[in-house]
Amino acid sequence: MTATQDLKLRRDAAVATGVATRGIYAVRAENAELWDADGKRFIDFAAGIAVNNTGHRHPKVMQAVAAQSEAFTHTCFHVAPYEGYIALAERLNAATPGDFAKKTMLVTTGAEAVENAVKMARAFTGRSGVIAFSGGFHGRTLMGMALCGKVNPYKKSFGAMPPEVHHAPFPNAFHGVSVADSLGVLENMLRSTIDPERVAAIIVEPVQGEGGFVVAPAEFLRELRKICDTYGILLIADEVQAGIARTGKMYAFEHAGVAADLVTMAKGLAGGFPLSAVTGRAEVVDAAPVGGIGGTYAGNPLAVAAAHAVLDVIAEEDLCARATEIGAMITERLVALAERPGMQAIGEVRGLGAMVAFELVTDRVTNAPDTGLTQAIVAEAEARGLIILPCGTRANAIRLLPPLTTPKEQVAEALDIIEAALEAAIATAAAA
Ligand code: PMP
Repeated sequence: MTATQDLKLRRDAAVATGVATRGIYAVRAENAELWDADGKRFIDFAAGIAVNNTGHRHPKVMQAVAAQSEAFTHTCFHVAPYEGYIALAERLNAATPGDFAKKTMLVTTGAEAVENAVKMARAFTGRSGVIAFSGGFHGRTLMGMALCGKVNPYKKSFGAMPPEVHHAPFPNAFHGVSVADSLGVLENMLRSTIDPERVAAIIVEPVQGEGGFVVAPAEFLRELRKICDTYGILLIADEVQAGIARTGKMYAFEHAGVAADLVTMAKGLAGGFPLSAVTGRAEVVDAAPVGGIGGTYAGNPLAVAAAHAVLDVIAEEDLCARATEIGAMITERLVALAERPGMQAIGEVRGLGAMVAFELVTDRVTNAPDTGLTQAIVAEAEARGLIILPCGTRANAIRLLPPLTTPKEQVAEALDIIEAALEAAIATAAAA
């Protein structure tokens, strides 16, 4: 039995089945490479789901964490606050778009950032309604799951959802939903379903992550801003997956040239250490009463030290430019592949910066999802030493999330593997 097989048996016996796992058991990782329990090397194009934007174990991040661990590792910010947290709030206030006074709170996970943004929006507006979008993902906590625009598996079997959460369709040109369609339903919702004066916030991912790397058109985000301004609704940008240099800008929302009232961020923020943040209009963030927000581990000192190093590395290594460059390399190659005869299974290549996905279809007329082929490509890529992840509301897209520090040769190597995996999976499907 291999070490991986043994770990899988132990995992199946001891770990909750509902915690989904893939088949690679990690032992070591360095920048864009990861080694499994049997010593097999992989290029990691999942990056811990958009977390290791600065690569695994970036030397500066590791040094910052080591230095912090020599001082203290936990005091609880509510008990004995520390400068690192304050300095990070200052940096995020300055970095987040919007020409207004901002404040920040730190928490630990993406879902927690979303929960707190909704709490702040409700406290500030005195309203309780929240509008989210179909296909969206916002976390696995009670409000997070209610905001998710996909039932299975996120809401299935988990009982009643919090009230006054509504979903409008997210624009998706590939699936025939235009910006006008989406806004039309939203405006109708504000006439027929919920009084806009009961809506505290509209929450939107500038690029849907779990939903399949569907990019919100700039025009759509600008219109949402207008609707929010008209009705006194707050706009929350969920930048948990798309933020922190991933799309070629620090925040994906910046591509649209509008500012959100509240921004949630996590994943890439602390280079592999658990940290999330809500940054937004000072008066909105401050609407939550003292003691009403926070948490024991919120803004952990080690994670905060890591985040400072991550922000330094993004600036020093110009990772926004690297994201654009890597994204262009990937997109060019995938678009060329899609144009080749026999590659009709690639229905669409899409994304923003280094957040690129391709959708697998049975044919380009119906665009029906080919989930079997999607899974086969992921498995073929893994066998050849590349970690990639499926995504999408129909589970038929493959997302590529390379660390932004991936050397060019490894990006090229990964793209060769994707091409070989596609060819192999298509040939196997054709023979079956
Ligand atoms: N929002 C978005 C946009 C996400 O992509 C995710 C995680 N995939 C979350 C929220 C939840 O983050 P976490 O898993 O850290 O709770």
